[in-house]
Amino acid sequence: MVDKSLSRTGASLLIDALQKNGINNLYGVVGIPITDLARLAELRGMKYYGFRREDSAVNAAAAAGFLTKKPGVAMTVSAPGFLNGLTALAQATKNCFPLIMISGSSERHIIDLSQGDYEGLDQYNVAKPFCKKAYRVDRAQDVGLAVARAIRTAVSGRPGGVYLDLPADTIAQLNEDLGEKNMGVYKLVDPAPLQEPSDAAIARAVDIIKQAKKPLIILGKGAAYDRTEKQIQELIDKTNIPFLPMSMAKGLVPDDSKHSAAAARSLSLKNADVVILVGARLNWMLSYGSAPQFNPNAKFIQLDIEPTQFDSAQKISAPLQGDLTSILNKLVPALTATGYKVPSDWTEAIAQDTAKNDAKFAKRIQAGETNPKFGYYGAIEPINEYFQDHPDTYLVSEGANTLDIGRDMIGMKLPRHRLDTGTWGVMGVGMGYAIATAVETGKHVVVLAGDSAFGFDGMDVETICRYKLPITVVVINNGGIYNGIDNVVPDQLGPTTLDPTGRYDLIAKAFGGDNYYVTNYQEMKDTFAKAVGSGRPSLINVQIDPSMGKESGHIGNLNPTLNLKPL
Ligand code: ADP
Ligand code: MG
Repeated sequence: MVDKSLSRTGASLLIDALQKNGINNLYGVVGIPITDLARLAELRGMKYYGFRREDSAVNAAAAAGFLTKKPGVAMTVSAPGFLNGLTALAQATKNCFPLIMISGSSERHIIDLSQGDYEGLDQYNVAKPFCKKAYRVDRAQDVGLAVARAIRTAVSGRPGGVYLDLPADTIAQLNEDLGEKNMGVYKLVDPAPLQEPSDAAIARAVDIIKQAKKPLIILGKGAAYDRTEKQIQELIDKTNIPFLPMSMAKGLVPDDSKHSAAAARSLSLKNADVVILVGARLNWMLSYGSAPQFNPNAKFIQLDIEPTQFDSAQKISAPLQGDLTSILNKLVPALTATGYKVPSDWTEAIAQDTAKNDAKFAKRIQAGETNPKFGYYGAIEPINEYFQDHPDTYLVSEGANTLDIGRDMIGMKLPRHRLDTGTWGVMGVGMGYAIATAVETGKHVVVLAGDSAFGFDGMDVETICRYKLPITVVVINNGGIYNGIDNVVPDQLGPTTLDPTGRYDLIAKAFGGDNYYVTNYQEMKDTFAKAVGSGRPSLINVQIDPSMGKESGHIGNLNPTLNLKPL
């Protein structure tokens, strides 16, 4: 017999509201005041995944949001737990991933009179600048509405993170006023309404593309999120417009497509006369669209749901505002009706540059396989080979050199199969993203991390092992941030130095996972396929030479350097 009063607490209304809206997974770290809430969620049929740090749990929810187009939900305790989660909430918002972070909090009157509660903090106000919107729900009777509002805010328009503050008294509050039939809990109608651009906006864009001699499409993670692969493939197949995928858009069109300009990135950016941005922002990752990386006379067409994004760095000659699916459903037929095809001298120039760069790259990989100083190329090539044969494997990547070299080396054939450090370039996302990816997709997941990146969230290997998830963590260990040979003052460890002989693999062993230690290309090749194929939690410590790795990877230009001399 279910105690009816139980179904009227704030906690049970919250669980009802999430489930009614198709959210069945919770990621979190429990403690006062949310422990029973998590237990009740399990009793009511939700799956709760307990982490070792809140940022990992919130990262997991963010990845769930990206992969499913429904907000992922994470729960934390108050003050310190909330603050640990805040970084990931901010990051999800920057990445445009829909997410709801729910934190238990202190009762309002104690906070508002600053009476000094256990873990007391005005979380609602602290969260505001770090998310799309913060809500606080003070009465159990409002919980259904608060969840509806949080979901709609997370997924409609530009997706992002939402903070929901849940004071302890709301969690346990009995809602006597609501009749049994109406507990204020409901399923949202059309949480992210489609938004079509006008015919005039489409015509303006088509007119510009029609004149283009050297057009280029840049695909961003917004296009991956909105599941636009079919429309984009049709657009590219019918017009031959070359495309550049941003890292998380890899696989929307297979990386081995003849239309990919990835290997001719510099040439294509420098020369393109019309740049079509599809769910990608002209931020630091694209040098703000400016010269010398871009042609200073390029015209920009931007497809985005967020109108304030237009003209953020360059004049946008044809802004197309709406959801990408609706925009492309109008733009692709309108453009193909004109019979437009890219002039062949442009595609040939890209093809030639691609062939030249591919040959150089192949040599580097070959050298990496046999170089007695084991480095990134030899370590990562077996991963690439595996992905070519097993494209329905997910990849999560972070690190400096590990991220940069892995992005160039590992070809993706399917959309949304690569998650990485994203818009901020943040380390410590690996375990959270991988755990949610395994949970939400049921597929095998590979984390490719540098030793420094892994250090930020490595304890969640225990989480991977506890839930027996099919995740293989690869730690490329060069013993340092960037590399392991920093030594500025004799007899003192340099600031970027970590332990170059650390056996990260033993962490998996400690929790019942499989551990592997490899020191050359052949060992990695033999080990990697076995580890991933087993579907068991595993960690491969890839011991590379500490001298391998450039300062700041491929973004050394962002790093201020000083004339380092002793006084
Ligand atoms: P990348 O880092 O891959 O270049 P960004 O995160 O910079 O991608 O850009 C993604 C863009 O996609 C954001 O400007 C966001 O507003 C937009 N976006 C996200 N979802 C949608 C959607 N469903 N429809 C249209 N635009 C979207
Ligand atoms: Mg390193």
